Amino acid sequence: MYHHSPRRSLLISGVIIAVMVAAGLFLFRDVPMLRFIMGLFSLGLLINLRRECSVRIWVNWPYIVYEYHSIFRHFREYIEPWRISGLNPDIVSMWRGNISERLVMEVGDRELVVSPFYSGYDPGENLIVETLRSLPGSRQQAEEKLAEEHRIDHPEEHPEEEPEVVEVWGFLEMGIQCPRCEGPVAVNGPYTALVCPHCSAGIDMQPSIWADLLEDVPQEIAEDCEEGYGGKSTIWGTYNTELFYGRMKPYCEECKRDYDLENDPVKDGRITCPDCGSTRSLQVPPEWWKSIFSDASMIIGAGESSDESNLEGDPLKGPVVFTCTKCGAAVKLDGSSRDLKCEHCDGEIHIPDDLWLRFHPAVKKKRWFVGYRWVPDTEEDDE
Ligand SMILES: [Zn+2]
Ligand SMILES: [Zn+2]
Ligand SMILES: [Zn+2]
Repeated sequence: MYHHSPRRSLLISGVIIAVMVAAGLFLFRDVPMLRFIMGLFSLGLLINLRRECSVRIWVNWPYIVYEYHSIFRHFREYIEPWRISGLNPDIVSMWRGNISERLVMEVGDRELVVSPFYSGYDPGENLIVETLRSLPGSRQQAEEKLAEEHRIDHPEEHPEEEPEVVEVWGFLEMGIQCPRCEGPVAVNGPYTALVCPHCSAGIDMQPSIWADLLEDVPQEIAEDCEEGYGGKSTIWGTYNTELFYGRMKPYCEECKRDYDLENDPVKDGRITCPDCGSTRSLQVPPEWWKSIFSDASMIIGAGESSDESNLEGDPLKGPVVFTCTKCGAAVKLDGSSRDLKCEHCDGEIHIPDDLWLRFHPAVKKKRWFVGYRWVPDTEEDDE
């Protein structure tokens, strides 16, 4: 609230006029010239009083209320703060180096007087200048400020807003390098242990390794990838890892139709494509995996290792004749076990990698889909 009151100058002018009129009437009644001069002077002061005004300005959201009172005019105006285009001192007169200024507020193409005698040193005037300059510069800012104030004043009408949650489907295609034989090993699901198809080495995929590999993936899929797009990365961590990921709804591998998760039949952990009848695995990820992947709720297409179309080459059927490395006898192998004993010399036989791979072709890297909910970070990024 700012109030410019002309009381003091009104009082001074009033007293001077009264004294002059009285003097003119009673003291100088015999000196007409002096009476005439005093009359003129009083008239001048009276005219000057026209400029005297009382101005009150206060904020009544979303308006600035401007109230003007003078001897001749009186009005009140409601002004939207963003319509105020300027607040400037305006020179009224200059006399012998004395500048007489008034402070005016520009609203559209109008000028409203804030202070008819502007000093620039008056704390009240400085305060109104600061207040008006700190007001929102646009309607949008004003509305935000208004909404913010309403939230603070009426918390009951503004229950905590739920953060916006996005339902995201992403896909992963992942392969690591066997730490023993350096052969490629597909990672086609949320598994904590893998077996190298080449050298049969057990490969540890404990949750902390997964956490390192997939650290930023849920966020990148949700925030940086458009539907149908993705990224590739090579990670030189515990295992050399090739990762291809992106944003994509799960679809039938045979006919490429998107699954309708509401309606497509799900039975025994498999979802069936109603168009072509093919099925894919559908599972709830294990708890440890959920905690790594943004509380993922569903995985489609993981595993599938038994499917022959997903193998690198056809598996070798039937026995193979193998020469015992110790005694040279012919031994028949059927691939059911890797380590066996020679029927002739009782020596140990270990089926070498390339032959073992013929019996048990490696599983190909496969695309599997992860459904999860993503809560976008509402905090400002420091980027
Ligand atoms: Zn290996
Ligand atoms: Zn299909
Ligand atoms: Zn032998």
